[in-house]
Amino acid sequence: MAKVPRGKRQSPRFWNEITPESSELQLSPTAWRHEATVNRQIQVYAQLHLLQQIVDSMPACVSYVDKNLCYQYVNVTYQDWFGIKPEDLYGRSLETVIGTAAYEKVKPNIDRVLAGEKVVYEATLHYDRAGTRYVHATLVPDYDTEGAVKGYFALIQDLTDRKAAELALQRKSEQDHTLWQITQRIRQTLDLQDILATATEEVQRHLHVDRTLIFQFTSGHGGEVIQVTHEADCPIAITAHQCQGQGLRSTCYQHYGQSTVGAVADLEQQDADLCLSPLMRAIAAKSAIIAPVLQSQGKGENCLWGFLIAQTCSDYRQWSTGEVDLLEQVADQLAIAVQQADLLAKLQCQAERLAETNQALEQANQRLNELSRQDALTKIANRRHFDVVLQQEWKRLSRSQLPLSLIMFDVDRFKQFNDRHGHLAGDACLTTVAQTSQGVVNRPTDLVARYGGEEFAVVLPNTDLSGALTIAETLRRSICALNIVNFETATETVYVTVSVGVACQIPTVGTSPQYLIDIADRALYRAKQTGRNRVVYGE
Ligand code: GH3
Ligand code: MG
Ligand code: MG
Repeated sequence: MAKVPRGKRQSPRFWNEITPESSELQLSPTAWRHEATVNRQIQVYAQLHLLQQIVDSMPACVSYVDKNLCYQYVNVTYQDWFGIKPEDLYGRSLETVIGTAAYEKVKPNIDRVLAGEKVVYEATLHYDRAGTRYVHATLVPDYDTEGAVKGYFALIQDLTDRKAAELALQRKSEQDHTLWQITQRIRQTLDLQDILATATEEVQRHLHVDRTLIFQFTSGHGGEVIQVTHEADCPIAITAHQCQGQGLRSTCYQHYGQSTVGAVADLEQQDADLCLSPLMRAIAAKSAIIAPVLQSQGKGENCLWGFLIAQTCSDYRQWSTGEVDLLEQVADQLAIAVQQADLLAKLQCQAERLAETNQALEQANQRLNELSRQDALTKIANRRHFDVVLQQEWKRLSRSQLPLSLIMFDVDRFKQFNDRHGHLAGDACLTTVAQTSQGVVNRPTDLVARYGGEEFAVVLPNTDLSGALTIAETLRRSICALNIVNFETATETVYVTVSVGVACQIPTVGTSPQYLIDIADRALYRAKQTGRNRVVYGE
C-alpha cells in the first residue's frame, strides 16, 4: 500500500510530500477497490502538492482569509515578509499580522471584497513586521454554496523596487526638465544680474530650500553674497554679507577646485568644517549644498569665481543625489553665464572705446576737411574749394537754368602797402579785407574765397547781374570804409581799396565755369585800367 508521509509542516498545511509506492501484491476484489480509492487519493494529493509548490514558489503573498478576517491559508512568502511561519499564521487575525496602520488603510478594500466585489489596488503600506512596501493587491471573494461570501483570496505583489525605480526615473526626468527650464530662463537674457536672480529663484523653487544664495569672491580678501532668495520665515535675513578672510579663495579652491560639490546635512558637525563655515554660521544655516562656480581659464586651469548655495535654516536635511546634481548643473550654467557676461562687458567696453575713437576720428576728419578747404591766412575758403564750388554750382544751375554770378576783386596797389607797412602788416590787411568781404554776403550758398595773392572771388549762385553788382558795390564800399591807410604822398593819403570785376551767366550744359572767370577777370582788369576802386561788369 502506498505510504503517505506527513509533510514537514504540520496540519492543516496542505500535503507537501507524498511518495506513492506501487505494490505487486495479489489483492482480493475488495482490496482492489480499496487500492483504487487510495490511488485516486494519491493522485489528488500529488496534484495538491504540485499546486502548493507552485503557490509557494510565487514571489508574492498568496493567502486565504475568512470572513472573520482570520488567515486560513498563506504561502511561504509570508514567512519572508513577516517572519512568521505559515502554520503559525492560521487562525490569526489580519490586523495582528499586518499591523494596525496597514490594516486601517486596506480596510475599505476588504469591506468591498467581503461585499462580493473583486478588488484590485496599489498602495504604499506600512506593515508592522514587513516594513514599508509598495504593493499591488488582488482580492477575490470566495462564496459558500448559498452564495454568501465566506472569505477571500488575496494575491499581494511587492512592487517596492519597481516603484522606487519608477520614482527615481520620474525624479530624474523632472530634474532634467527643471534643469532645462532653468537653462532656458538663464539663456533668455545676457544681463548677469537677471541671470543670478533667475538661478536663485529657480533653485529655491525646485529644491524647496529655505534660502538660495550666490557668493562671489571679491578682488581683495574674501567675498560677499551678491544674490539671495529666501523664505519669509528664515531667522536671519541677509541681503549681502561680506565674508572676510585672508586667502579665503585659495582655501576654498582646495575644497572645491576640482568641481567638488559639498552636501552637508548638519553644518554644526565637526567634519563639516568647510571654508565657508563662518558664513554658514553667520547666516544660521543648518544644512547646505555648496556648488562651486568655476571659470575655465584654458589649459585645464580653473578659477573659482564663487558659489551657488542652497541651504535650510529651519531643519536638518539629508540631500539626495538628484538635488546635489541639480545644484551642480545650475552652478555650471552660472559659470557659463558669468563668462559670457564678462565677455560681453569686455566687448561692450571695446565697442564703446571704438565708438569714441570713431567719433574722435570723425571730428578730426571733419576738421581736416575744413582745413583742406580753408585758406590758412585769411580763414576764408581757399582756391581749391572755390574751384570745387564754382564747378558744382555751374553744373547745378545749368540744369535749373538759373543765373550764376561771380565777383573777382583785387586789392589796389598792394605792393606799395607791403613796401610801406611790411609783409606782416600786409598779411593782416589781407585778413581784414577777407573777413569784411565775408560779412557782405548773406546766403548760405554764397562763397567768398581767396583766389590767390591779394585777389579774391565771390560765388553768388542764383543771383542775377543787378544783384551781383549791388553786392560788388557794397563790398567795395565796405573795404573803403575800413579806412586802412595804404600809403601817403606829400599831397594825399591813399587808403586801401579794391577793384571789382563782375560777371553773370546762365550756365549751359557742357561748358566750363572758366568762361565766367574769364569775363570777371577781364572786367576786373578794366576796373584797374579805368582808375581802380571801382566796379566793372563784363559780358
Ligand atoms: P594793382 O593795383 O595793379 O593790383 O597793384 P598791386 O601792387 O596790388 O599789384 P601787384 O601784382 O604788383 O602786387 C601785388 C602784391 O601783393 C605783391 C605781393 O607781394 C603782394 N602779396 C600777394 N600775396 C600776399 C600775401 O599773402 N601777403 C602779403 N603781405 N602780400 C602779398
Ligand atoms: Mg593788386
Ligand atoms: Mg593782384
